[in-house]
Amino acid sequence: MSWHNQSESLEVLPNFLEENLLDDRTTGLQLDAFNPQLFRKNVEVVVSKLEEYLADSSIRGIELINPYKLLQQAKEIMNAPNKTWGSGEQEKLEAIIDLYLKTGIAIHSPGYMGRQFSGVIPLAGIIDLVNSTINQPSSFYEAAQLPNVVEEIMAHELNQFIGWEPGTFAMVTTSGGSLGTLTALLAARNDKFPQLWSQGFSALEGQGRPAIAVGDAHYSISRAAGILGIGEEQIVRLPLNEKKQICLEKVRPTLEAAAQKGLNVFAMVASTGTTTMAAFDPIEQLADIAQEKNIWLHVDGCHGASLLVCDQLRHKLKGIEKVDSFVWDAHKTMFVPGVCTLLFYKNKEKSYGAFHQDASYVFEKQPDVYTQFDRAQQNFECTKRPLIMNLWVTWSIYGRKLFADKLEYLCQLTKEAYGILEQEKDFETVHDPEMNILCFRYCPSNFDEKAWPEFQVMIRNRLKEEGTFFISKVNVNGKACLRVVFMNHKIEMDHFQLLLREIRKIGQEIIQNV
Ligand SMILES: *Cc1c(COP(=O)(O)O)cnc(C)c1O
Repeated sequence: MSWHNQSESLEVLPNFLEENLLDDRTTGLQLDAFNPQLFRKNVEVVVSKLEEYLADSSIRGIELINPYKLLQQAKEIMNAPNKTWGSGEQEKLEAIIDLYLKTGIAIHSPGYMGRQFSGVIPLAGIIDLVNSTINQPSSFYEAAQLPNVVEEIMAHELNQFIGWEPGTFAMVTTSGGSLGTLTALLAARNDKFPQLWSQGFSALEGQGRPAIAVGDAHYSISRAAGILGIGEEQIVRLPLNEKKQICLEKVRPTLEAAAQKGLNVFAMVASTGTTTMAAFDPIEQLADIAQEKNIWLHVDGCHGASLLVCDQLRHKLKGIEKVDSFVWDAHKTMFVPGVCTLLFYKNKEKSYGAFHQDASYVFEKQPDVYTQFDRAQQNFECTKRPLIMNLWVTWSIYGRKLFADKLEYLCQLTKEAYGILEQEKDFETVHDPEMNILCFRYCPSNFDEKAWPEFQVMIRNRLKEEGTFFISKVNVNGKACLRVVFMNHKIEMDHFQLLLREIRKIGQEIIQNV
């Protein structure tokens, strides 16, 4: 008999379950997957492996395995027969965890200096286990009560470093900085062109073509523009100075030239911590210009907004209280698992401007004491993870100091590394670092720059293959550079010195072999 026939009558249902599912208990199938004792056993297996993983401080970069080989290994685990109940599951689980931990970037190693994601505060990982196990989607208060209350708490905790009047601002969490910026720019667009949401672009006739002005912008900003119907040609590039900040003197003339060409710049995007080299734009003065020109100022603080929690470094975000919106990736420089982005709006009302819709099954016309905590009207996600929990728990238990100390250490380390490079004749620095990203080049005297446009890239790739250090590369003024990002407090100056030695060795080998 098919399930369909059986389920037509509710009376038959318990019998059906009894016969078809409970029977499986003897062979060890479905229901064991939900057995709480087995859950505990599995967690213990995983936790002891993670403990070992976290305790390993060896210097490692990345070991890239041929993906087809890895695919084969993964399939072999899948296809291995399950032994008896319990032990078979456990063996497979162990094999999977081993393979998972062994492959990919060793983010806890002092050899990892390549990117902006970070080894996490381990407690945050534990909270993520709770998030995933109890699975409370957080767009609505009724489904995720604590996460929604906690967002309110964290908004006020972090506002200590911004300084807005309580009740006047808003914070929304989004699944990543790219989505946060898209959301903010949508709010900006709807604010400046209120008819657009209902009438589409035909509503804009006679108002010029909507445009966005940007500095050294992350690629997510032109993607957001594309999604919003702002063409590539409607992205106005603001000139940068030698520190890769938006050049203040050139902002007004550039905006005026754009207006001459029929562009209606409704938003400007500045950065606090650019991806290239963590440059900080002068947001206070940009906010004044934006206000004068009636432009929405959005700040991409994905990487650098965390400096707000550091007494000694907060000044780099001077003027943050004047911007209309900004994003802050806690999954980068607040050391919680991906993803957790905080999107702040200076004006609470405007945080409801990104999306307009009626969906009577979820949205209430008259908010009550519960639904006023719903976030769904402000965020794009329908089902949404309780993103704030990892940050709130670590913040509650360890306090601001953990974050501030680690960030200050990483910024200091970067300054010292810069100091060392300045002393070394065969290295060239390209900027005085503002945060924890440092770009530089290896230029020994037996190296002819013209003959080697790809030299830095070759060094970086060889370094990656050797597996001791993982660093990245980036173009500055059209020239390839090596780039280190210090995200790990286990990195010490000796590790950086070791990296320089490796770079020299590899660089010289490349030169000899041509
Ligand atoms: C990482 C980053 C982004 C993108 O954020 P996601 O959270 O990865 O979507 C945008 N801008 C800057 C400056 C970044 O560092």
